[in-house]
Amino acid sequence: MNSTECKRCGTCCKKGGPSFHIEDRALLEDGFISAKYLYTIREGEPVRDNISERIVYAPSDIIKIKGQKNGWTCFFYDETEKRCAVYEYRPLECKLLKCRDTRDIERIFGKKLLTRKDIISTVEGLWDLVIEHDQRCSYKKIRKLIDESGKTKKGDLSGKVAELIEYDKIIRELVVKKGQLDSELLDFLFGRPLSATMNRR
Ligand code: SF4
Repeated sequence: MNSTECKRCGTCCKKGGPSFHIEDRALLEDGFISAKYLYTIREGEPVRDNISERIVYAPSDIIKIKGQKNGWTCFFYDETEKRCAVYEYRPLECKLLKCRDTRDIERIFGKKLLTRKDIISTVEGLWDLVIEHDQRCSYKKIRKLIDESGKTKKGDLSGKVAELIEYDKIIRELVVKKGQLDSELLDFLFGRPLSATMNRR
């Protein structure tokens, strides 16, 4: 075994699942990985850049695999067997990542990322809802409200942020109750709940 070969220690799988790239689209379209195991970091959402190790704002959708028990370990990592449950169908980043030589993954990092539009823009009705949700409570809008609340005494801007958090909560409840959508798809369709992401700030 050479020094860059994978020793299956599982460290990279425990540091968070991969981001999906355009090359991974077929994994979803062909049903090898279901969207219910994914979540979306929405455009403008604060996110940790693992290369620079700084907090940056997501430039577009970033679709990722959910963690186990809300932790960082990739949902598909089998701790007991120390193996990937979808190894044959693992995303591009997993194929390229060698923890002792990160040059391959650095080459594609943040480039040609898969977005929700690439996957569900043809699903009439559902895509309209996703767009409406993004327009009503984009992270850009929320950040602007928070920035302005420090500069102006006009109105209750923190109340406006609270309204958006409430809207985000209600739309999720509605699509599950009335639209009979699988609740496990919510974090993929609408990103993580604002009630959770705003509390991290
Ligand atoms: S998909 Fe497989 S290889 Fe990739 S992080 Fe998850 S468990 Fe590891």
